[in-house]
Formats: sequence, structure tokens, C-alpha cells
Amino acid sequence: MATPGVDYLDFDSLLSEEQRLVRDTVRGWVEERVLPVIEEAAWEGRFPRELVPEMAEMQLFGATISEYGLPGLDNAAYGLMMQELERGDSGLRSFVSVQSALVMYPIFTFGSKEQKDRWIPALAKAQAIGCFGLTEPDFGSNPGGMRTVARKNGDSYVLNGAKAWITNGSIADVAVVWAKLEGTIRGFLVEKGTRGYSTFEHKGKMSLRASVTSQLAFEDCRIPAENILSGVQGLKGPLSCLTQARYGIAWGALGSAMATYQAALDYAKSRKQWRDRPIASHQLVQERLAWMITEITKGQLLAWRLAKMKDEGTMRPHHVSMAKRNNVWVARECAKLARETLGANGVVNEYPVFRHLANIESVYTYEGTHDIHTLVIGEAVTGVPAYNPPME
Ligand SMILES: Cc1cc2nc3c(=O)[nH]c(=O)nc-3n(C[C@H](O)[C@H](O)[C@H](O)COP(=O)(O)OP(=O)(O)OC[C@H]3O[C@@H](n4cnc5c(N)ncnc54)[C@H](O)[C@@H]3O)c2cc1C
Repeated sequence: MATPGVDYLDFDSLLSEEQRLVRDTVRGWVEERVLPVIEEAAWEGRFPRELVPEMAEMQLFGATISEYGLPGLDNAAYGLMMQELERGDSGLRSFVSVQSALVMYPIFTFGSKEQKDRWIPALAKAQAIGCFGLTEPDFGSNPGGMRTVARKNGDSYVLNGAKAWITNGSIADVAVVWAKLEGTIRGFLVEKGTRGYSTFEHKGKMSLRASVTSQLAFEDCRIPAENILSGVQGLKGPLSCLTQARYGIAWGALGSAMATYQAALDYAKSRKQWRDRPIASHQLVQERLAWMITEITKGQLLAWRLAKMKDEGTMRPHHVSMAKRNNVWVARECAKLARETLGANGVVNEYPVFRHLANIESVYTYEGTHDIHTLVIGEAVTGVPAYNPPME
């Protein structure tokens, strides 16, 4: 296989033939189609949209759904898919996470039959692109404070407000928008081109440069009443979508860590300093590699256990918090250690390391920051929520 696996404890032996096939198919595609273009795309700040139809062809969108002719993959196979995409680029994995976990999942789970029939096949085939609008300029970690509102008016809803940092925002045909209706958070489907709905791209991003991130604005934006997601009310609507996406990130981050580990290992074995010996012969360099492979291996086992629990229906949001928090942190540390190992070559885009290093900063912050997941775990073990301590 072109891209080497990172497998210290024979993790492969845990996988079924189908899971290996899914992983190897996505790995091969990333190797052949993504790696040759991603560095330049990131440099130019361009989302490689030309790859989207190929991802649809491979049935990467909504892959755990088993209706509408979709593959109904198990959760480990889905996770491995995310791992391989993020081994390529976190922005590419973000695109698939948003389309699948944040757009298809809520429409499939909370939408009407008409909404599902209309959007699930189109999103699966990438005839439509979706985005998920929860964060606002003033409300990130605390989305319950959102100011975007919906008002019922005859057979329409009228939306007013703004969303910020929305992946795929400007290229989306449909936005899943969370807004307060008479004080309760509800989900709405807003189509591109609707009067009163506009998007603006966030410029100047140093991270996830091969991904589109946008603001969404709603000014007396009138949508048909049937565009509400009728199956859910309250913050649990968006949070249940985030649980799906965070699950995928727990696996995806391992892909980023594997890419930077592999780059560091290859470099350490070939780079010579001091009497023509490879830098891999130095204890300090080996210590870094040993740390990386140990943490990646622990992260794989965490993700694997989570997949089993998700299949069995016993996975809870605080379990996902542990895996997202840990595995993204591991990827962030691996990127730093790999960058150090590459010396000056660690800061140029001839190698993938700095791109991963920059990307993982966004992944560390989005879908619940590292701090917020710490607090979720803290609440799970103590029973005491510590998100918003009262002011003196
Ligand atoms: C590239 C990118 C893509 C994104 N895509 C999407 C998307 O598609 N859809 C979407 O809705 N959002 C998206 N986001 C937004 C993302 O989810 C938010 O940025 C994230 O939730 C953090 O919110 P914030 O940036 O407002 O930070 P803040 O909430 O202001 O946090 C700032 C700092 O304060 C800390 N903090 C906050 N509250 C607490 C607390 N109670 N205790 C301790 N520390 C705390 C945080 O951990 C952080 O370190 C994206 C963000 C980025 C960067």
C-alpha cells in the first residue's frame, strides 16, 4: 500500500474485512487524489471542490445511513473513513463531517418525509452541499445564548440574526440554522438564494485554509413553514448533531497525528547530522517518536471502544468528549513534535507538517473547545456542572 499504516499493536487484527476495505479505499484515494493537490490548495486558500463528486461517487456522504441506497456502514468503518480523510487534510474531513453529521443527520433524524426525500439523496450525491449554523459572533462555547430568532408569520417563518464561523457557508445550497422560536431553539432549513439570506467568507484564516468558512446573515428572511425540523426542540437538537460530528473528529484527529508522526519518522531516518548519522539515532529524537506512537495507539483504542459503544447504543456525549478532547490534543502535540523534528524543513510546505499543525488549531477549538470537553468530563465524574460559575 502506498501510504503506510501506523499500527503498533496490530490494531488491524481488530478490524473486519469490510472495515479494512473502507479504510484502504479512502486511503488510496487520498494518496492519489488529495495529497498531490492539497498543499497548493491550502497555500492558495482554496477548497478543492473538484474532489467533491469523487467523494460522492465513493459514497462518503451519509455513509452510516442505510436508507436511500446509502451504505449503512458501522461506526468503526465510518471512523476509519474520517481518519483517512484527515490524514490528507482536516479541511477535507471537515467538509465530510458537516455534510454527513451536521446536515444529513439532523434532516434524516428530525426532518419530515418530504425534507428527507428532497435532501438526503441530493446531499449524498453532492448535488447539494450543506452547512450547519449554530455559532454566532457573540456565542460560541455557550450556544444556548444565541440571538438569532424565528417568528411565525402566516405560513412562513421569518428569521433575523447572524451566524459566524460556518464551514461550507458560502458554498452551501442548504443551511441547517438554529434559531429561537418563542424562546425555544429550533432547527430550520434555509435555501441558498432565499431573500434576506446572505453569506460572507471569513478571510485571513491561517488554519483550515483548504476549507470554506463563512458568516451567515438573516434579515427578515422568510422561509416556508414546512422548512422547520419538526422532530426536535431545544439545545439537544444541535448538541445531538455535534455528538455525531465529534465522534468522527475523534477518529479524524488520529489521521492528522498519523500523518505528522509518519513525516517525522521518515525524516528522522533520512536526515543526517553529526558524523553522517541519521537524527533518528539520537535519544531525544527517539523520545519524541516514542511519545507520538504511544499516544496514537492509545487514541486508536479509545476510538475503537467508542465505535463499539456507538454500535451498541451505549455511547453518551461525555464519552465522545473524552475521545475528541484526547485525540485532538494528541494530534496537536504530534504536529508540534514533528515540526521540531523536521528542523527548518518543519516550517515549509514541502512537507505536510505545518499545514496539519495549523489545521489542528481549528479542530482543537471547534465542536466544543478542549476546555469545554474538560468541563463535560468533569461534570460526568462529579455530577457538578462547572461551565458557568456564578459571579461574586
Ligand atoms: C475553522 C472553523 C470552522 C467552524 N465551523 C463551524 C460550523 O460549521 N458551524 C458552527 O456552528 N460553528 C463552527 N465553528 C465555530 C466553533 O464551534 C467555535 O469557534 C467554538 O465553539 C468556540 O467558540 P468561540 O470561538 O466563540 O470561543 P469562545 O466560546 O469565546 O471561547 C474562547 C476561549 O474561552 C474558553 N471558554 C469559554 N467558556 C469557558 C468556560 N465555561 N470555562 C472555561 N473556558 C471557557 C474557550 O475554551 C476558549 O479557549 C467553526 C470554527 C472554526 C475556527
